[in-house]
Amino acid sequence: MDPRVFLAVSACKLSIRLLRLTGRGGTAIPGKIALKICPDLLGRLARDVSCAIITGTNGKTTSARMAEEIYLRAGVPCFANRSGANLINGITSAFIENATLTGKPKKRHAVIECDEAASKAVCYLVDPAVVLVTNVFRDQLDRYGEVSGTLSNIYTGLKNAPNAVVCLNADCSLTASLADRIPNRVIFFGVDVPIYKNPVSEVSDAPYCIHCKHEYDYTYRTFGHLGGFYCPDCGYKRPEPQLAVTGILETGPASTRVRMRVFGEDLLVTVNLPGGYNIYNAAGAAALSEAAGFSRETAKAAIAGFSCGFGRMEAFDLGGKSARMILVKNPAGCNQVINYLSALDEKALFVCCLNDNSADGKDVSWIWDVNFETLSDIADRVPEILVAGIRAGDMAVRLKYAGFDETKLRVFDGDYDALITAMQAQPLPVVIMPTYTAMMALRAKMSAAFGGRDFWE
Ligand SMILES: [Zn+2]
Repeated sequence: MDPRVFLAVSACKLSIRLLRLTGRGGTAIPGKIALKICPDLLGRLARDVSCAIITGTNGKTTSARMAEEIYLRAGVPCFANRSGANLINGITSAFIENATLTGKPKKRHAVIECDEAASKAVCYLVDPAVVLVTNVFRDQLDRYGEVSGTLSNIYTGLKNAPNAVVCLNADCSLTASLADRIPNRVIFFGVDVPIYKNPVSEVSDAPYCIHCKHEYDYTYRTFGHLGGFYCPDCGYKRPEPQLAVTGILETGPASTRVRMRVFGEDLLVTVNLPGGYNIYNAAGAAALSEAAGFSRETAKAAIAGFSCGFGRMEAFDLGGKSARMILVKNPAGCNQVINYLSALDEKALFVCCLNDNSADGKDVSWIWDVNFETLSDIADRVPEILVAGIRAGDMAVRLKYAGFDETKLRVFDGDYDALITAMQAQPLPVVIMPTYTAMMALRAKMSAAFGGRDFWE
């Protein structure tokens, strides 16, 4: 055994323990320390682990959690980087937690959520058995630049995953285009029908053909640039998915029932999460399950029984009142929250928390690409909006320009105690839409006030 492995693994395990003793859940720092001691540690620890990698702009965490549930229900012990530490340091920490002091894996399967840019190195080091690419949307402007940059990062990741079965979103013209550029076996997943009766209109992140720059036409759209795209000029079009959602049977505030066709077999599937984007997450997880060789019944049961966490439609108890927290980081995700609110039958209190720390994205101008105008159309069901966070002022201005009645906006800036009191003081269920660091701050306050798990559990 290489002494560096022993040293790196023990240093990392010790620092994880110390961080937890001091009440901090940081999962990236221990990995960083370990990689300093032994730079090729991840590759060594991954040698005897069969790994599924989940990457793409939106839906990584939820898809990964669904996939993890499938493994557990199939009786295949697996580990995961569950708190969303999806860069190489955090992923290394997860592999170290799964390793003995001599570097042997305790569990031999991993479900790893991976940042798009980090996928280049991570795929190279872990040689995944499956890669799921959820979609490519424009993220915060200041992160990785344009969507083409994100796509090229994922492509490099796939080139570094020669042994993987690759699951691609057929409805995303960007993601689907990867299929022709790689020799791997590909499973396409997609949604064959529109999801919402009246989806918010939004700016497409990919209006022009990736091959010839001609504008796409659509036979239908689900949301954003996703749907039945085709290029009238060069003929590039949505590939036929082997795993398709062929009908949306019932949409509720907590779940959705869909019909799925999986390699010709029709299944009725309950997605135990609301919102159209979770239909995609479920389809992606089901495709991953096919790629990994699990039974369809197992996937179906896992998707129906799955419960979410960490800002992905996470349900909270606000001292007897129900609250859901939906993390957002870009216009596409934000529009999905508005679609969700529009489809609700009941009234709700909407809370927006906008921060501009580096983990949120420094540039908050993306809020102008979100269709907040729809909120004024449903003002009878969203009677009031609470706005908080470092950039609460910008958010309030945006909502005002969207036509939302100014007298029904309440601005809290960074005062989360006052915000929580205000949420509690009114009778409606609460839907909270924070950016990343706002979620962390709010979550800490809420678990202190009402109990709840720490985020690394
Ligand atoms: Zn074209």
